[in-house]
Amino acid sequence: MMENPRKLINFACGFTKSRHVETKYIFVTGGVVSSLGKGIISSSLARLLLSRGYSVTIQKFDPYINIDPGTLNPYEHGECYVTDDGHEADLDLGHYERFTDIHTSRANNVTTGRVYQSVINKERHGDYLGKTVQIVPHITDEIKRDVKLLGNTGKYDFVITEIGGTVGDIESTPYLEAVRQLRWELGRSALCIHLTYVPYIRAAKELKTKPTQHSVKLLQSVGIQPDILVLRTEKEIPPAMRRKVAQFCNVRPEAVIQSIDAPSIYEVPLMMHEQGLDSLVVEMTGTEKHSEPDLTAWNHFLHKLENARETVNIALVGKYVELQDAYKSISESLMQAATYCDRRLNLVYVHSEKVTEANVEEKLAGMDGVIIAPGFGQRGIEGKFTALKWCREHDIPTFGICLGMQCMVIEFARNVLGLENANSTEMDPGTRHNVIDLMEEQKSISNMGGTMRLGAYECRLKEGSIPAEAYGRELVSERHRHRFEFNEEFRSRFEEAGMECVGENPDTGLVEIVQIPSLTWFVGTQYHPEYKSTVLHPNPLFMSFIKAAIAYSEKKGKADA
Ligand code: GLN
Repeated sequence: MMENPRKLINFACGFTKSRHVETKYIFVTGGVVSSLGKGIISSSLARLLLSRGYSVTIQKFDPYINIDPGTLNPYEHGECYVTDDGHEADLDLGHYERFTDIHTSRANNVTTGRVYQSVINKERHGDYLGKTVQIVPHITDEIKRDVKLLGNTGKYDFVITEIGGTVGDIESTPYLEAVRQLRWELGRSALCIHLTYVPYIRAAKELKTKPTQHSVKLLQSVGIQPDILVLRTEKEIPPAMRRKVAQFCNVRPEAVIQSIDAPSIYEVPLMMHEQGLDSLVVEMTGTEKHSEPDLTAWNHFLHKLENARETVNIALVGKYVELQDAYKSISESLMQAATYCDRRLNLVYVHSEKVTEANVEEKLAGMDGVIIAPGFGQRGIEGKFTALKWCREHDIPTFGICLGMQCMVIEFARNVLGLENANSTEMDPGTRHNVIDLMEEQKSISNMGGTMRLGAYECRLKEGSIPAEAYGRELVSERHRHRFEFNEEFRSRFEEAGMECVGENPDTGLVEIVQIPSLTWFVGTQYHPEYKSTVLHPNPLFMSFIKAAIAYSEKKGKADA
């Protein structure tokens, strides 16, 4: 008999019974400057509401014209995050998932480009019945439709919507107009949290609230009265100053909350809870009260984070090391795993373009483990090969991710199999030894955006391999973002010489994982395990890698003693 699809959806979302709820919409806007941490505040609020037993989702609206960040250079926008359903998303969705364990999707990240594309498609289709298509109401209606898409499923008590950019930006204007209209239509079921900055003027030894007042005025001038203000600050904001902000900005005094710089972003939910952010949201939206949040598991993690004394030293070899946001999910995954192993992570970024035969020892000898990063294109690739050769010859725990795995294969082909100039056809389309090659289904593709092999696919693990031991399962599902793959034609030569394929796609046979079993921990994954590692559920392969790194450092320590 067919399963009831509704039941299946509910099961996938963690519900035990089917129900329909009245969804409350929380909008998070930002003012004064960018990079104040709207994503962290949104994620923290989501964590608190989830821990009180509500069902929650978070979405991000980005005011740029790109359809998605997939075509953006990491220098522009940091890491491109990937969801289960294969959406190339803003890195804030990574924060959302790491804080909440919610699996996000294409519906959780909308850009101006997507909004316009949809409106223009409708116009071409004749859906507007001869009307002039305008920003208001057509673009704003489209935004409103997207805002409510997840809420309309009836599954969520709260939909938190983060509006990218800063109030006053030309690009943000249609979003703010949509928020204004929604607040009017939804009444108490919608609420606006505005995040601003309170600078500390060192010379005057004073905190200044004027930028906050101006930013709230700007918001009011487009018809939005914020309900809650979160003030980002380096120093404690005195109660009298908060009362002043409340008075100037028409906000209740207890709804002026400070977000002071914290040693870890994972402390922010606790800081928000102490000041009553979650209670305020529940009360102001007239939501049925649930018990206080159960943060036991979260606090357990924080306790470990704060109390770890010994360090684990990991090098990340990549070409975007000047911008650490480019490897955000990897660095967070390493930190989570290190924390659960009671270690402080010392992550050393090594610029792959600067690694040479002459300096590789100096760069890597003090490390307990090495990550070879994902990436695209030729730049920095030779440094990755040099690092890998050194790691392989010194049996140091080494983890190659996506391009990093492909580099493991190429280095092995060149230096162990003796296949001269072995390469990926991405770097050398004419190579005779194309050990990494373009996937068949990619050969006819010319558009760049959204056309890679993206999202979650299954991988079958070989019994007894490191990944099989780590996951404790035979079948896993992990996320992907690539065009090239291990070339099956060479497989037997690799396996005979000691590099094994220990994970493959059960349907297509695509090689997902390579391992050198004679080495302690030398594993490369075509997939990106970092996208599914969260604070409460660190990825097993990162856990296994960090444990191996710790064991290696202890062995090294003994040998040095
Ligand atoms: N450039 C490689 C490919 O497209 C690897 C991609 C990655 O590291 N995400 O297959």
